[in-house]
Amino acid sequence: MILIDGKKTSSEIKNEIATRVAEIKAEGGKTPHLAAVLVGNDGASQTYVGAKVKACEEVGFQSTLVRLESDISEAELLKVVEDINENPDIDGLIVQLPLPKHISVDKVTNKIKPEKDVDGFTPANVGRMTLNWPAYVAATPYGIVELLKRYNIETSGKHCVVIGRSHIVGSPMSILMARNGYPGNATVTLTHSKTQNLAEICRTADILIVAIGKPEFVTADMVKPGAVVIDVGIHRIEDPSKKSGFRLIGDVKFDEVAPLASAITPVPGGVGPMTIAALLYNTLQSAEKKVFG
Ligand code: NAP
Repeated sequence: MILIDGKKTSSEIKNEIATRVAEIKAEGGKTPHLAAVLVGNDGASQTYVGAKVKACEEVGFQSTLVRLESDISEAELLKVVEDINENPDIDGLIVQLPLPKHISVDKVTNKIKPEKDVDGFTPANVGRMTLNWPAYVAATPYGIVELLKRYNIETSGKHCVVIGRSHIVGSPMSILMARNGYPGNATVTLTHSKTQNLAEICRTADILIVAIGKPEFVTADMVKPGAVVIDVGIHRIEDPSKKSGFRLIGDVKFDEVAPLASAITPVPGGVGPMTIAALLYNTLQSAEKKVFG
């Protein structure tokens, strides 16, 4: 069984990005610049944004964190996005989700200039990805694609089952696995809460990608021996034996599934660290005008 090490792979990618940034700077080019907008004081969102800003520093990017009160109006937030859209110094813009209930996520997402949409959430980038054009692909699916590539996982002709159809993980993942290219050329089954006989379908998967958001949902009886298992889920559960008082687990019951799998991502240290590396990569692509030209 191969343990797919997202922590190590993400460090390698960050090193590659840092090397390129140093070259750009040595050539007198502009430092890539990511702006993150954070609305309100949600603890998890602050942690995620903090990690993204720290990662920018690690690779030599400039970053700007725009913090806004949770009672900001939708119109005011749209104006902030517009200002960043028009700021020529900023290459990438992310608006941390979730947003307060009185603000439409769709409206805000749609306001982001596709050329700066390094989260890959705008209709323009989702459409471009679907057409197999150059696009900013959402960070989590992009991170998974990069793991499959760097671990030389064969995908052509394989049956890939994706559990979950969210806009940020399951749905784009299914499109990427079915596209004509590598990784891709898989026969894809996208499953969701209305799917019948889920366990039976999962047992036919050569590649099982799990983004259901339910702790340890996938058990050994749902996995074909020799399958590649990618676990996207992250859940904090109480664990008094840990100094922090908690530990992280995924959507897959790792201890019983790992011995069956030919390759598997752990939680933590699998898909999670790849998400930030993918965001940095998209920002570098934007700074170098590689996607929209
Ligand atoms: P989500 O938006 O809650 O979507 C969950 C999906 O699972 C939905 O499509 C839902 O179906 C489906 N589902 C729910 N119950 C099911 C069942 N019994 N059988 C089959 N499908 C079922 O979740 P998400 O945002 O995609 O995230 C999934 C997990 O990944 C979460 O644990 C999240 O924390 C984690 N995550 C990790 C990263 C990372 O960087 N590692 C990034 C993003 C998310 P319906 O559409 O029918 O409701």
